[in-house]
Amino acid sequence: MTEARVGLGIDFHRFAAGRPLVLGGVTVPHSKGLLGHSDADALIHALCDSLLGAAGESDIGVHFPDSDSETLGISSLTLLAAVMERIHRSGWHVVNVDCVVVAEEPKLAPHVAAMRETLGPVLGVGADRIGLKATTSEGMGALGRREGIGALAVSLIERASGCPDR
Ligand code: MG
Repeated sequence: MTEARVGLGIDFHRFAAGRPLVLGGVTVPHSKGLLGHSDADALIHALCDSLLGAAGESDIGVHFPDSDSETLGISSLTLLAAVMERIHRSGWHVVNVDCVVVAEEPKLAPHVAAMRETLGPVLGVGADRIGLKATTSEGMGALGRREGIGALAVSLIERASGCPDR
């Protein structure tokens, strides 16, 4: 018998000049990047929170506070790997994830395949288990005014029944 749980994550970061735009672990050519303590990869942050939420382990703000100088400028792929290590210790593995990035710019469709291939080995699943879509907010609100990028993620995790929580 197996036990399955689902988790949801959402994240937003503002655009800032002079920074690379990193989403899903991939550097996307653009005139500006996202502002944040880490590389500000909103997609991976949403994914981390969905995984932690599914495992009942609070959120990345608790595990990786932005007051920690050790994580300044860190690749969010490293944070995701740490989240995976954490949930593996409780016996969980990923069944599938599904994500949406909300951005008026740049066009992300050309980079989706690279993002899925980058995330797969860290999540421990094939690219066929990583849903990844990009949409716009039709010009509405802060995202519509191109002030930043938002991302949502849902994760399904599974483990053998009877595994104790840490
Ligand atoms: Mg974030």
